[in-house]
Amino acid sequence: MSPDQARDYYDVLGVARDASVDEIKKAYRGLAVKYHPDRNPGDSVAEESFKEASQAYAVLSDAEKRARYDRFGHQGVEGQPFTGFDPGAFGDFADILGDLFGFGDIFGGRQGRGRQGRRRGHDLQYTLRISLDEAARGVERSIRVPRLENCGTCEGSGSKPGTTPEPCGTCGGNGQVMFRRGFLSVAQTCPTCSGAGRVNRYPCDPCGGRGRVEREVTLKVNVPAGVDNGMRLRLTGEGESGPLGGPPGDLFVIIGVTPHDVFERDGDDLHMELPISVYQAMLGADIEVTTIRQETAAVNVAAGSQPGELYRVQGAGMPNINGRRSGDLHVHFKVVVPQKLGSEQRQLIEEVARLGGGFEPEDQRSLFERLKRAFAGD
Ligand SMILES: [Zn+2]
Ligand SMILES: [Zn+2]
Repeated sequence: MSPDQARDYYDVLGVARDASVDEIKKAYRGLAVKYHPDRNPGDSVAEESFKEASQAYAVLSDAEKRARYDRFGHQGVEGQPFTGFDPGAFGDFADILGDLFGFGDIFGGRQGRGRQGRRRGHDLQYTLRISLDEAARGVERSIRVPRLENCGTCEGSGSKPGTTPEPCGTCGGNGQVMFRRGFLSVAQTCPTCSGAGRVNRYPCDPCGGRGRVEREVTLKVNVPAGVDNGMRLRLTGEGESGPLGGPPGDLFVIIGVTPHDVFERDGDDLHMELPISVYQAMLGADIEVTTIRQETAAVNVAAGSQPGELYRVQGAGMPNINGRRSGDLHVHFKVVVPQKLGSEQRQLIEEVARLGGGFEPEDQRSLFERLKRAFAGD
């Protein structure tokens, strides 16, 4: 099926567009139980329905993917709907279905549980705060991440070097035990080996038999110029090591951009307020400002500028993260009127006022007329 033929995910799960995470989870669980290939052997329609529901769940259960899906539809979510499962999203399926079904082989066994017990490690998340000028030029930062890594002594096996774990007697090494519930044959995580399929008679000392130890690592993160608040960088394979030597998860670095004192961001555009004197507004002026990239830009205040008028410096906003043209800098004029005048100034300004020009008493009079009409109720 191509993406444009794909059904609406909310329809697939039969939930409302504002359904809660719990409602989505419940709906998916119901469909998964109904269509699971173990219950419908050889039924390709059921299998297709199962995959469809799983895909819908993978998207709608992830707040970020769901938001993208709500805005952009199927095009907005990574990958094609029915292929290329994101193994990261899969940890969650195991949480929901792992105890109910022998999960794993349907999608090519990537998340294979049991037998070898080589599950993928968890994805990790790290929030990195940067300033707006760092976001404008891009920055390389070192971060310290505590994570579970394979134990160096036992290389992840969990047993003392020179010993091998024995297959679990309860489950025969499967990691799961089957029991019948009505018509349904149900697999449950083996209570003896907790799904590993093996028991450790000689647990490794440094890791206590867990195969993994917590360690803090220093990683370099290259933050590209133009990043915005909430963007996510993926560091493939830098998440947790998988249990029993399984492949590592990914590390997601979420970018938090600290608000700037002067510049306010709107997409790739920046806005700033520039105080100008009433004389500069009347007579015009050229003023230099410093941009977010610490370059100087000339701002032309035209003679007769009004409060709130603005001057746009093209390309002096944020760089575009996809390499398209940079945003603009919008310089908003804030006209400052002197609050005190010396006597000589006052005399001169009174003289200017007597000469008139630039303001017609008509403007005020027409306002008073309009007010009067409005209150008279015409
Ligand atoms: Zn160890
Ligand atoms: Zn077992």
